Amino acid sequence: MIATGGTIAMATDPGSGLRRPILSGAQLAARISGLDVPLAHSQPYAIASEDATFEHWLTLAREVEQLAPGHAGVVVMHGTDTMEEAAFFLSECLPRHPVAFCGAMQPPGTVGYDGGRNLLDAISVARSPLAPGLGTVVVMNHEVLPAWDVIKRDSVALDSFSTRHGTRIGTVHDRQLRLLSRPLQFNWLNAIPAAAPSADAVAYVRLTGSPGRRQFRAAVGGADGVVIEALGAGSVPAAVKADVIAVSALVPVVLTTRTGSGPVQAEDSYPHAWDDLLAAGVTLEKRLDGPRARIRLTLSLALDRAYAPFEPYI
Ligand code: ASP
Repeated sequence: MIATGGTIAMATDPGSGLRRPILSGAQLAARISGLDVPLAHSQPYAIASEDATFEHWLTLAREVEQLAPGHAGVVVMHGTDTMEEAAFFLSECLPRHPVAFCGAMQPPGTVGYDGGRNLLDAISVARSPLAPGLGTVVVMNHEVLPAWDVIKRDSVALDSFSTRHGTRIGTVHDRQLRLLSRPLQFNWLNAIPAAAPSADAVAYVRLTGSPGRRQFRAAVGGADGVVIEALGAGSVPAAVKADVIAVSALVPVVLTTRTGSGPVQAEDSYPHAWDDLLAAGVTLEKRLDGPRARIRLTLSLALDRAYAPFEPYI
């Protein structure tokens, strides 16, 4: 059990008197009655997950790499705000280890505290005989969701976690994991970079209608790579298209969509609309959302590899 902070771990800090995400895994597990599973604990850091950096996620990956071989499974307690990114970062680096992330939408001590049951469910998933094929998953509100697709879709709801494309690996009730689908395997990067990448390495731009050219140029200037969340099926407004093509002559540019789901490129409705972008070397990312494409491009650059679109293999 790796505790990293987040709402699930909130308690009053005896030193400062302030509420902070400091509870350890042992303290959290002690609150679950009848938990008779042998657990090993670590707490590499204790933060609100909005403060997480590539440095933290790299530390987490190294911790999992070290702990996983000696244990049936690994549970990571994490803040919910960046849980999907931490889980994806980890699955890119270490796709083969079973890791169950969990957190809480409500803090300990409140009527709606959901951390205890999420933690119990995550432990049940991590030690399930089915866990070895799962890779990294998020276990929230009795659902088991894949790291590559899970999103926090509501800022406060207990059932906030779902997936962009409707993928659901299973449910967990009464300490039993019930598989509903076979987890997909992908062309994961399957490597941990030697050092934490810079958070500024990749520029991340979300396009809107009537985008500002000056803003676009300022956002991509100086970056080693660019991820663009385009409109609809990957449409790039004419106002910035020449700038997208110009920057793609200098650094890798990955295009995804700002829509909640679905791939980029709609060959049927706008034939050849992407030809100039493709000719300029822009990569179309058909599965990942912008934040995940940013992580994949950042890690690819750190590992000295070209960006490969995220694809399943059968
Ligand atoms: N801001 C908190 C965090 O991500 C929210 C949570 O854990 O639910 O750490």
